[in-house]
Amino acid sequence: FDQREGYIWFNGQIVPWADAKLHVLTHGLHYGSSVFEGERAYGGVIFKSTEHSQRFHRSAEILDFKIPYSVAEIDAAKAEIIARNGLVNCYVRPVAWRGSEMMAVAAQHSKIHVAIAVWEWPSMFDVAQKMRGIRLDIAEWRRPDPRTAPHDAKAAGLYMIATLSKHAAERKGYADALMLDWQGRVAECTGANVLFTKGGVIHTPTADCFLDGITRRTVIDLAKRRGIEVVERRIMPDELASFEECFIVGTAAEVSPVSEIGPYRFTPGAISRQLIEDYTAEVNPKAKAA
Ligand code: PMP
Repeated sequence: FDQREGYIWFNGQIVPWADAKLHVLTHGLHYGSSVFEGERAYGGVIFKSTEHSQRFHRSAEILDFKIPYSVAEIDAAKAEIIARNGLVNCYVRPVAWRGSEMMAVAAQHSKIHVAIAVWEWPSMFDVAQKMRGIRLDIAEWRRPDPRTAPHDAKAAGLYMIATLSKHAAERKGYADALMLDWQGRVAECTGANVLFTKGGVIHTPTADCFLDGITRRTVIDLAKRRGIEVVERRIMPDELASFEECFIVGTAAEVSPVSEIGPYRFTPGAISRQLIEDYTAEVNPKAKAA
């Protein structure tokens, strides 16, 4: 991934892709002092750019450092690097980390670095294909207690269990893994939130120990606009048998129906289809302006 053509925004400069390097004694690499964002541009416009920039700032504050660019500067930098790379439909990856000035757990005076990379990533518009649903494993690793890990931060360190869970799922032939939380409740997938339907009502776990995704909030609003009731509550895995539809939501996943979670089966249906359509319209800047 590091030898591509193109440019990366790196500490306020635009540098050739292959030159965006850092030192092996980077604190973020050794101690996980790194936060990032995952965003998408549709038709050249990042969906909810400012909300992502605000979360980027908040994640850093939770990890006890401050991003040295304002939210407006990050928004402008993202737009600049998309234009510079000539991209229209792309993924956007801002990342911020403590540098290599201090090599110890304590690193209060290390420099905070920020980079923004963008790459082509067309969204999957084939609704029929999406409606076939993806298959999820149930992960062995659990989302930690909120007193153990700062779940509101999109912090690189929290993705260690996501990578382990996703690798284990892929080895068994699944697309992704559903993670339970420290209490055994249904939580989320490795990079997306999860929602279910029962009798026309959406049920989704309360986001009290995992990321309350921007897509999750968007899809909940879209459902409510359609008059669909949404209940955020505690969901135990044995309840999965009673749900009709299941879909995961996230910047990368968008709205993706699920056909299977371990031993449980779901049938993607009317609510999934409606929300795929509504989300597609919501993120499309032309459809919104019209
Ligand atoms: N949970 C996790 C663990 C994620 O990585 C993501 C993707 N950022 C989400 C949920 C969904 O968040 P969003 O809708 O803001 O992309």
